[in-house]
Amino acid sequence: MTKHIFVTGGVVSSLGKGLTSASVGLLLERRGFSVRMQKLDPYINVDPGTMSPYQHGEVYVLDDGSETDLDLGHYERFTKSPLSRKSNFTTGRIYSSVIEKERKGEYLGATVQVVPHVTNEIKASILQLAADDVDVVITELGGTVGDIEGLPFLEAIRQIPLDVGKENCLFIHLTLVPYLKAAREAKTKPTQHSVGQLRQIGIQPDILVVRTERAMGRENAEKIALFCNVEKEAVIEETDKTLSIYEVPLGLAENKIDELIIKKLGLPRSELKIDDWKDLMHRIRNPQHEVTIAVVGKYIEHRDAYKSIYESLTHAGFSHSTRVLIKRIEAEECEAEDLDQLLGNVHGVLIPGGFGYRGIEGKIKAVQYARERGIPYFGICLGMQCAVIEYARNVLGLSKANSTEFSEETPDPVICLLEEQKTITDKGGTMRLGAQPCILQEDSKSRQAYGEPEISERHRHRFEFNPAYKERLIESGMHPTGTSPNGNLVEIVEVPDHPWFVAVQYHPEFKSNPLDSHPLFHGFIGAALKKHQGK
Ligand code: GLN
Repeated sequence: MTKHIFVTGGVVSSLGKGLTSASVGLLLERRGFSVRMQKLDPYINVDPGTMSPYQHGEVYVLDDGSETDLDLGHYERFTKSPLSRKSNFTTGRIYSSVIEKERKGEYLGATVQVVPHVTNEIKASILQLAADDVDVVITELGGTVGDIEGLPFLEAIRQIPLDVGKENCLFIHLTLVPYLKAAREAKTKPTQHSVGQLRQIGIQPDILVVRTERAMGRENAEKIALFCNVEKEAVIEETDKTLSIYEVPLGLAENKIDELIIKKLGLPRSELKIDDWKDLMHRIRNPQHEVTIAVVGKYIEHRDAYKSIYESLTHAGFSHSTRVLIKRIEAEECEAEDLDQLLGNVHGVLIPGGFGYRGIEGKIKAVQYARERGIPYFGICLGMQCAVIEYARNVLGLSKANSTEFSEETPDPVICLLEEQKTITDKGGTMRLGAQPCILQEDSKSRQAYGEPEISERHRHRFEFNPAYKERLIESGMHPTGTSPNGNLVEIVEVPDHPWFVAVQYHPEFKSNPLDSHPLFHGFIGAALKKHQGK
């Protein structure tokens, strides 16, 4: 019988529910259980694909092409749970499906209502993850208890124990105990209120994970236990981690959350095997080197807009025992400011994905700076397209070269719309999305980095390298070193006559994890280290 864990949050948002859920998933896997992870998002967008990174941070893309919440990135970095379209549901998607059924007459004349029709749809989206080979499904509910739009979801998870048995379900609620400097006290009242709200809905949390800036002490934990009707041992403190987010699972294990979950769900006892993770912490704590990487982007002030990029850089640092300092540079600043000032001291430049013209000229200047000075350059998606535009302009001498995304009239559309994209008008879910195979050219840096001739990587774009310029670019020193199996689509370009200049049309940042850093990120940081050491 598959067990269900529900993770809710209270008091404030941004408590790190995704990280906590992913950490619980990791600990259960490391005790030998097979886990599935899932996120429910109460907003009305059908998926986050149409949302601005300012609103929502990064859009995380899966192999099957679904555009999902960035918490799924944590799930993939921490666990082995296979993710798909079934791993992220929004209110928009639930309602679309209910309305579609209504139009088909599937409700047989009933008045279609939030309870039971919408709640049944939500329950079905959760229960479909249960299977013979799945021990535990962890379902994280986005938002905060008390949000109007979260209500149908809370009602749905309240009902699940009635369907699958109380003994098969566990509710974890994440809250905050703030420390008031003026009073010199940790305050438990917001937690009490938040649990009160949950209990009003009919959900009694089994475990409280309490986020604190400073340790709150046993006394407060006991107070919370009493007022929130949970066992003392089920109040788990999770203090802020200053070193790395990868400390979170170890902190939770120290507080025995995994033992508690196993006991409460009646899962068979087993040993926690987490030495490699402890090793990782040791490496993070004791780096041998340090490099600075400039990330030049458009949404740079938003911490979450390039989440997976930052994580992947850090992972590559782990595998080189190197602390990676990230210098976040607003692309538009590169247009006006002295580039020596901005990029003079960095050991590598990375330009991530993006959409729209703002900041493009700055990115192109940054590519030129890195290329001409032999600074390792890693272009990702839009960062690859900028690299091609820059090369065409400054090496081929096509001064007006551009992508048709930014100039439809350009005489030299070195990046242009994919044929199949030309007739599409809908915005949601219509890009070239998800895993695509790519063949690597012998003797290329990519081939070296991956160590195999064929790879699969995730995509999310509409525009593409224009093959009409392929020969001229090759002649002038920019080589397409990765292509689609039929050779038509260029997925990677490199400048062999440069210490490390690799730009890819896909998103490698979605396939890196802390114990196994992505080959290209590994190669890039390796090159940055060489640059730093003056080699
Ligand atoms: N805007 C570009 C395109 O649509 C790049 C997309 C991206 O970087 N994800 O092709």
